[in-house]
Amino acid sequence: MDNATLISDAELNVAPTYGRYPIALVRGEGCRVWDADGKEYLDFVSGLAVCNLGHCHPGVVSAIREQAGKLIHVSNLYHIEPQIDLAKKLNRLSFGDKAFFCNSGTEAVEAALKLARKYSFQKYGEGRHEILSFDMSFHGRTMASLTATGQAKFHGAFKPLLPGFRYMPFGDVESVAASVSEQTCAIMVEPIQGEGGVNVPPDGYLKGLREICDANDLLLLFDEVQVGLGRTGKLWAYEHEGVAPDAMSLAKALAGGTAIGALVASDKAMAFEPGDHAATFGGNPLATAAGCAAVDAITAPGFLEHVQEMGAYANAGLEELAKRHAIIKDIRGKGLIIGCEVDVDATSIVTKGLEAGFLLNVAVQKVIRLIPPLVVEKEMIDKLMNFLDEALADLAK
Ligand SMILES: *Cc1c(COP(=O)(O)O)cnc(C)c1O
Repeated sequence: MDNATLISDAELNVAPTYGRYPIALVRGEGCRVWDADGKEYLDFVSGLAVCNLGHCHPGVVSAIREQAGKLIHVSNLYHIEPQIDLAKKLNRLSFGDKAFFCNSGTEAVEAALKLARKYSFQKYGEGRHEILSFDMSFHGRTMASLTATGQAKFHGAFKPLLPGFRYMPFGDVESVAASVSEQTCAIMVEPIQGEGGVNVPPDGYLKGLREICDANDLLLLFDEVQVGLGRTGKLWAYEHEGVAPDAMSLAKALAGGTAIGALVASDKAMAFEPGDHAATFGGNPLATAAGCAAVDAITAPGFLEHVQEMGAYANAGLEELAKRHAIIKDIRGKGLIIGCEVDVDATSIVTKGLEAGFLLNVAVQKVIRLIPPLVVEKEMIDKLMNFLDEALADLAK
């Protein structure tokens, strides 16, 4: 079927929860995808930071093929071999001691929020349930993670939200220190805000939050759903600051494109007991087998160095453009999550990109967010910079 047929069928049958662009993508390989009319695109979106290994990474594909022929699902009432393997890998590679598995980012965040309340309840009893999160954060769409999300535009029609959440200005340790009360049990933060516009906090910020948590026995919860798994040039974004959380939520890139979520926690924080929390599909053999293959590929020698090198290269390309394009106000990010903020509405650049054969993304209307597959190559970045050179000139008109 071609784009036009698929689009009209979608309009008739698929819930309109996204403002979708007028193409249907049907095939992918590495950093390239093809639409139903056979047109090729260079992907700088990665399915929103999911396809860190590029599309159809051979290691992930063969792990899925093999596992699908062996065992796709069994209940968590039984032990699951690939789930145990993935938990071991995540714990070995992070601060973590125990991993809980679910199926998406929002579920991983929900698990973190419930864990914080359980930890506090067990130790201090009722009433110490408040979670501090941040302006411009994004934590997901189900009710608790939606409440934790500090952006009013997502809350609109869905009130009342959950009680026990407060939003702090992002990047300011002092305001958090001043706001912790006897009811506070946790701080939830993205080490770099993704959906909120690629906002990088000042150096020492996470360390400051760690100190506040230690002084008050709060759980420090890092939402690494978008920036984890190599996106910033380190395996975990928190490594840039040399501080560890008590628990972190993961999802997007964890299983090479298959649906998965995880909450990794220290033994101290892992307050869940049988019956406290669960997910039917969580940690199923198929997703966790894919996860093992994805984690192996991301931690293979040289992989993260490539991310750092390409990140620096793309950043330098944008800095070069900024010399010629006065509408560029800021370039920020780490590794291969880069925000290029302009002082006009940039959303039209996505449509222009599609015409020119690029998948692009704009966050909060003014930030061109580059989140390519981490296997992106210099010549692809060069092509994008050439396109942006023209597109930014048009945008300024
Ligand atoms: C995408 C995202 C989520 C939500 O993930 P879903 O899989 O869409 O539920 C949560 N937190 C952050 C930081 C994200 O980027």
